[in-house]
Amino acid sequence: MFSDQRLLVVSAHSADWVWRSGGTIAKYLAGGAAVYVVCLTHGVRGESAQLWKDPDQVAENVRKIRSQEAANAAKVLGVTNLEMWDFNDCMLEVEPKILQKLNEKIRQVQPTLIITHDKRDVTNPDHGFASEIVYRAVIMAKQNGIDCGGLKPAKPCPVYGFEASEPERSGFVPAVYIDITDFFEKKLEAMKCIESQTEGPFIHTRLSTHRGWQASRTIGDKNIKYAEAFTMRDPLVVAKLPVRKLQNFN
Ligand SMILES: [Zn+2]
Repeated sequence: MFSDQRLLVVSAHSADWVWRSGGTIAKYLAGGAAVYVVCLTHGVRGESAQLWKDPDQVAENVRKIRSQEAANAAKVLGVTNLEMWDFNDCMLEVEPKILQKLNEKIRQVQPTLIITHDKRDVTNPDHGFASEIVYRAVIMAKQNGIDCGGLKPAKPCPVYGFEASEPERSGFVPAVYIDITDFFEKKLEAMKCIESQTEGPFIHTRLSTHRGWQASRTIGDKNIKYAEAFTMRDPLVVAKLPVRKLQNFN
């Protein structure tokens, strides 16, 4: 179903992509898509509170643990292209170095779709800055005249936004639901790999269940039990107007 798709997922920290898109990633991989995951930071400062309870803890060890957790989750989901970039989190900056690196990555991957953070997430400002970084890098990647070692400009592609952990306070309004019912068990297993954020599986099981119920009632399909919700940065361009049923876009 997705064999002609190249999905690039850009995550502010080492685990956001698991909580917010693990089911979609597993579904795309099962459908034959090429999936690339980039974590801009390890979340050493802002998303590793559990690890910092150890009074002898040091940043290098936290980085190592977070990296291993992400690798374990990737293995469960079947992701073989996972990159940890190790910029500083809390606060992540929209700086030329990171923009250029992501611009190059987009040119290398030539994604047909991108998933990253939505514009606002009150629980961690890094998420909003990651969204801004992706927005700018996507525009850079489309331009001629930027020296990228011969890499060709990328074509325009849709950019989808992750659901925030506290969606109401972050102004998150879903634009699409994707049915992940058949992949939820895998997502749950991957979430449990992130042992340093113990509340993650609880929060995101609830969200996936709630979005599944909403997706189910939206189209009257009782088989949908779990879904992930995303925003869309730009309107879809379609040859005909979508109707109320499960859509398979190729
Ligand atoms: Zn995060």
